[in-house]
Amino acid sequence: MNRLPIFYHHEYDIPVPATHRFVGSKFSDLFIYLQRQSFSSLLQHQTPSSAPLEKIQRAHSSSYIHQVLNDELSNQDLRLINLPWSKRLRQRSFLAIEGTYQTALQALQSGIACHVGGGTHHAHRDHGLGFCVFNDLAYTAKNLIAEGHVEKVLILDLDVHQGDGTIDICQDDPQIFTCSIHSESNFPFEKKQGWMDIGLPAGTKDETYLDILSQTLQSIGRSLTPDLVLFDAGIDVYSEDGLGNLELSIEGIRKRDRLVLEYYRGKNIPVATVIGGGYSKDTQELAHRHGLIFESAIHYL
Ligand SMILES: [Zn+2]
Repeated sequence: MNRLPIFYHHEYDIPVPATHRFVGSKFSDLFIYLQRQSFSSLLQHQTPSSAPLEKIQRAHSSSYIHQVLNDELSNQDLRLINLPWSKRLRQRSFLAIEGTYQTALQALQSGIACHVGGGTHHAHRDHGLGFCVFNDLAYTAKNLIAEGHVEKVLILDLDVHQGDGTIDICQDDPQIFTCSIHSESNFPFEKKQGWMDIGLPAGTKDETYLDILSQTLQSIGRSLTPDLVLFDAGIDVYSEDGLGNLELSIEGIRKRDRLVLEYYRGKNIPVATVIGGGYSKDTQELAHRHGLIFESAIHYL
């Protein structure tokens, strides 16, 4: 029986005050939630190692990596990241980017694999931003290409926020194709121009959103057959999310994820998923929402 490879490290959580928008325990909450589900016997857990510096240099400037490694970020840089700096945050930043890389490498073998983390798409080449220190999507795409595992990577970013950092790092790379469907009026307020960008109005809701997604997949398919899809399945598109404003329902998110998986797995193209953003003070609710992509992925083993 095939099992779904999932990647998680017990040091992913970060110390964050309870008043902070970011839920620091969301990774362990999700991992525990997954183990309690009826499909848990279909999951196969693997633990990522820490990212080597020479691999991070393919996505980030040496000076920025040095600052992170030595706890030397300026107050201005820390304000941009908007998380309390800690030894754990530093260490997990090196673990989580490699976690997405290893998830993707596994997906190339098994067809599909899921990361219990990842989607730090606001991190730019020489600075962090919006809860993101290093960019796991750019790191993964750059390294898989450099190592000859793949030639063309599609980064399909369906988090409610545009992955401006991913575009910053990847826009001059002819082998990396970024596609983002996001809210036009959510952070970042200055959008970047990637390969394909679709900004939606607040309150778009399921039906219109799913129509646009379906058309977008068809449109991508006319010009690109990637060797791998990195799918940012952010759940901040949800109607009750603390930050997003696209107002999708839980069923809408489920349909979104299955549209993507059905489309690419139907073409036998490997898909690696990352959890992306999701904001709620109700940690169990949040784990449930992030768990949707895992539940869907099992159907495409
Ligand atoms: Zn987001």
